[in-house]
Parts: sequence; structure tokens; C-alpha cells
Amino acid sequence: MTATEFVHFWIGSLIGGLAVGFLWLASRRLDILRKRRQNIDFRRALWTNLERLHAPDTPLPSLRRHKAEMEAIAAILDEWLPRLRADHADTIRQLRQMRIVLDSMTEGVLAIDDRMRLILANPAAAPLLGVEQEGLGRLLPELIRHSSILEYAHDAVERCRPHEVEIPLNLRDAIGRLGVRILEVRITPIRPRGESAAVIASGRAAGAVLVVQDVTELRRLERLRQDFVTNASHELKTPLASIKLYAESLLDWALEDPGHNRAFVERIEEQADRLTNLVSDMLALSKLESGSDVYRHVPTAIGPILRSRVASYRDRAEAKGIDLQLIADDPVSDSKVVAAEEALRQILDNLIDNAVKYTPEGGHVEVAVLPYNVGWLEVTVSDSGLGIPRADLERVFERFYRVDKARSRELGGTGLGLAIVKHMVAGIGGEVGVESQEGHGSRFRFTLPLAGESAPVAAGPEEGQLR
Ligand code: ADP
Repeated sequence: MTATEFVHFWIGSLIGGLAVGFLWLASRRLDILRKRRQNIDFRRALWTNLERLHAPDTPLPSLRRHKAEMEAIAAILDEWLPRLRADHADTIRQLRQMRIVLDSMTEGVLAIDDRMRLILANPAAAPLLGVEQEGLGRLLPELIRHSSILEYAHDAVERCRPHEVEIPLNLRDAIGRLGVRILEVRITPIRPRGESAAVIASGRAAGAVLVVQDVTELRRLERLRQDFVTNASHELKTPLASIKLYAESLLDWALEDPGHNRAFVERIEEQADRLTNLVSDMLALSKLESGSDVYRHVPTAIGPILRSRVASYRDRAEAKGIDLQLIADDPVSDSKVVAAEEALRQILDNLIDNAVKYTPEGGHVEVAVLPYNVGWLEVTVSDSGLGIPRADLERVFERFYRVDKARSRELGGTGLGLAIVKHMVAGIGGEVGVESQEGHGSRFRFTLPLAGESAPVAAGPEEGQLR
């Protein structure tokens, strides 16, 4: 080889080597760029999928097509894991809060899916509908026997229609007594979310939520209030009608008629007195029933009150030839009871007034006070009067209840006296009751807690001892 040929060979080899080196470098660079591109694509896909964790209805495309590097995954997981952990803790906290709210609700709450399978039940649903947590996943018709609740729930799911119904059921109350309870059941369909238009158009719901409440007591109070308004208006109307009639008669012709005018004005005064009594009894009762602290029950000597109340009825009793007696021996009559003087006065007045009112001429009325259990006194007001039929005994303490309406009105009664007595005795902490035999007389009794050293040691008189 000549020198020239050698130089050519050497330059050629150099150029060839450089070209190979350049190609190698270029291919490496391209490889790095391709991998970076893949990484970016993978990251983007992974981020998108992670973001979609919060949107359960969106698709999660598979990540397998990305031949991503472990580093990229590690970087993203490093960033995401703390966020996932915080989200998880947040979800658990929210679930706990929801559970606490559901568990402490007095209303029973059930949720069913579109196939009527139970997906949620709170503890209050158990006593109301007999549905326990263990029933989760089972079909509602297997858990609830009541056909109309099932029909309404089925309709709510099938037609996406809400229902609100009241259903009487034979259930146990808070103290275990079996009886008819009124349940208010509100059924709200769960509207389908992200469902196809066809499903929404078909009117089917994704499930339903049933909220059940025992409204027995609420309805009873509403009925009582309604009855009170009806009775009160009726009671007020009767004397008002009389007053109007006598006033019209006076204006028309009786004013100048000395044989009638005085008598008519006296009737008007009588009816006005009746109205006054009625209104003041109604006010007293509504105050007592509102639960506002009407009286301050402080230690009060029972003897002087008994003596003064009995004395105030002596004239009326004598006028009817009734023998009115007070039996209050020492030391009982020297005792102090925890009761407001005004409350004691009103209780005694109502009971003595009734005894004198419903006892015919020549009868007996006796007011007595005796020890009763440890720390209690019992006051009785007995008469030899008309008595109360057995069937009415339970009801005489109800507002406006009278055994004989005409007789009570004729004798100036309002029908509220015993209801006031019942509330007042309850306010003092005692019990009230009555025993009676029709045609032979009645015995009303109430208990009072003793004050001071003789104060009650037990909670009160044994249950069932007074009727
Ligand atoms: P009234 O104002 O009509 O007397 P109350 O509430 O005091 O209303 O009594 C309710 C009903 O109970 C009376 O209408 C009467 O029928 C009956 N009653 C109350 N006390 C007696 C009693 N001592 N003897 C017989 N019946 C009574």
C-alpha cells in the first residue's frame, strides 16, 4: 500500500467510525425522546384515571397499553398516596357522621334499590317495622309483612312516584304494651343518576327511601286540641244564646213588664257568671297544660287550708241540709306538704264543690286527711250523693266530660273542674283517683308529698293503688 492509499484508508475509516458513532448517538436520543413521550402519555392517562376516582360514572380506560417506566408510576403514586389517604380518612369520617345521624334518628329510615333489596336500615326501623341490620341485601317483601307499605314502595320504584301515608299497625309502645299505633310512612323514589334517557323515560327509580315515624301521640294530641276547640265553642255558645234571647225579649216586650223584666235580667246575670267561670276555668286549664310553671310548690301547712275551705262551704251545705264534716286529727293536720297554697285551695274547692253539688238534700260530705305510705298524706272528699256509673269513672277527669250534661249545666258546672284537679295534683307530684258506686256516693282521693323530715323516702305511692 502506498502512502496515499494508506491516508485514504485512514480517512475513510475515520469518516465511517464517525458516521456509526453519530448514528448510535442519534438512535439513543430518539429512544430517550420516545420514552419521554410514552411517559408523558402514561402520566396523562394515569392522572386522568385517578381524577376519575371522584366521578364513579365515568369510564376508567386500561393503563396496560402504556409500557411505562416504574419511575413514572412511583412519582405519581408518591404524589397521590397522601391525597388518597386524606380522601379515605375524609370518606370514613363522613360515613361515621352519617351513621351517627341515622342511628340517633327517632324516625326509622330504610333504603331499597331498584330490585327492592334492602341497602340501608337504621336502628329505629327495627321496633317500627321489624327490619334489622341483618336484613341488608334481602328483598323488602321478605322483611315487611304489611302489604300496603310494600305496594307503595313498589310503586315508588316502578313509577318513580313519592307517597305519604298513615298506616295503623299493631305494635308495642315504648314500655312494651301491645296496641294500635299510627305510623306515618314517607316513601321518596331515588332518581336515577347518569342513567340512559330510556331508563328515565320508562319512569323507573333507582330505588327508594322510606322514612317511618310513630305519630300516635301527635294525632292523639291533635284530636284532643280539636275536641277542646269544638267543646269550648259549644260550651260558650249555650250561655251566649241564652243571654241574647233574654236581651231580645227584654227589648221586644219584657222591659216594661214588671212580671218578667227582673227575672230576665237575673237570668242574663246568671249566664254571664257561667261564661266567666267557663272562661276562667279554660284559662287555668290551658295554663296548666302548657306546662308553664304556674305555681311554686313550697312547704305549706295543710290543716289551716282544709279548715278554711270546708268552712267556706258550710253555708251552702247547710242550705241543702247536708252534713259537712272535716276529719283532720293532730299531728297529721299540723303537717306541712310541698304544695302551693293556691293549688291546694283550688283542688279542695273543686272536689268539695262537686260533693255538695252532686249530693241531694239530707246527705253527708266528709273531708279527711290521713298518712299515706312513708312521706305522703292522702286527702279524701267523700259524699253520699248520686255516685258515678262504672263506665264513666275512667273519664270524669277528661276535659268537658260530664256524666249528665244537663244536670251539670243546671248546677252551674263547667265540666273542667276535675281536669284542673288532675293537672294540679300531677304538678305537685301526687296522684288522684276516684271510687264510686252509683246511687250510693263517691270518694275522691289525692296524695301530697310531706315537707321536711317527713318528706317522701320512696318515689311516691305504689302504682295502681289509686285509680
Ligand atoms: P262539672 O263542672 O260538670 O262538675 P267536673 O269536671 O268537676 O265538671 O266533673 C265532671 C263530671 O264528673 C261531673 O259533670 C259529674 O258528672 C261527675 N262528678 C264529679 N264529682 C262528682 C261527685 N262528687 N258525685 C257525682 N258525680 C260527680
